[in-house]
Amino acid sequence: MCKPYRFFDTSEEVIRELSLYELVNEGNRDLAEEISNRRPDMTDFLSPNERSERMARIKGSNTRPEIALRKVLHSLGLRYRLNGLGLPGKPDLVFPRYKAVVFVHGCFWHRHSNCNIATTPKSNTEFWVEKFEKNVARDNRVTSSLKSAGWKVFIVWECEVASAKKANATGKRIADLIRAE
Ligand SMILES: [Zn+2]
Repeated sequence: MCKPYRFFDTSEEVIRELSLYELVNEGNRDLAEEISNRRPDMTDFLSPNERSERMARIKGSNTRPEIALRKVLHSLGLRYRLNGLGLPGKPDLVFPRYKAVVFVHGCFWHRHSNCNIATTPKSNTEFWVEKFEKNVARDNRVTSSLKSAGWKVFIVWECEVASAKKANATGKRIADLIRAE
């Protein structure tokens, strides 16, 4: 089975999506749908133990790509803030000086086109397709509202930062874009 969460960051969303994924695979589709319709505190259904177990599993190696990207941007002199600064969609990195934001998106959940990580599960396909469409629609809404508030929005895909070499190249490209007029 594929592991779409392999390169994910540590956000609440990731824990929720991972949990959903497991529930559907375990045949608990009704519960998964119910949880999927709740926002934004969907991890509440996990017990504290389950929650910390999941956090531990998601942490570790999984945060490397985003951290690698941050390091490159930092080394290029860019200073950012984390945790979204209350902006729509809670961008992963915010560059107040340039009025720019960067999202590091998981290819599976956010549907990176022509990417081999963005597979569609063969069981419960309908559920997944609907879920993916919602995610993409939400991303589009978030991007539009940030742009109309004057923010420059950049998306970095997990596969673009999956190694140090790729993170370097991607970081340089994004840094240039952030600084460009
Ligand atoms: Zn990708």
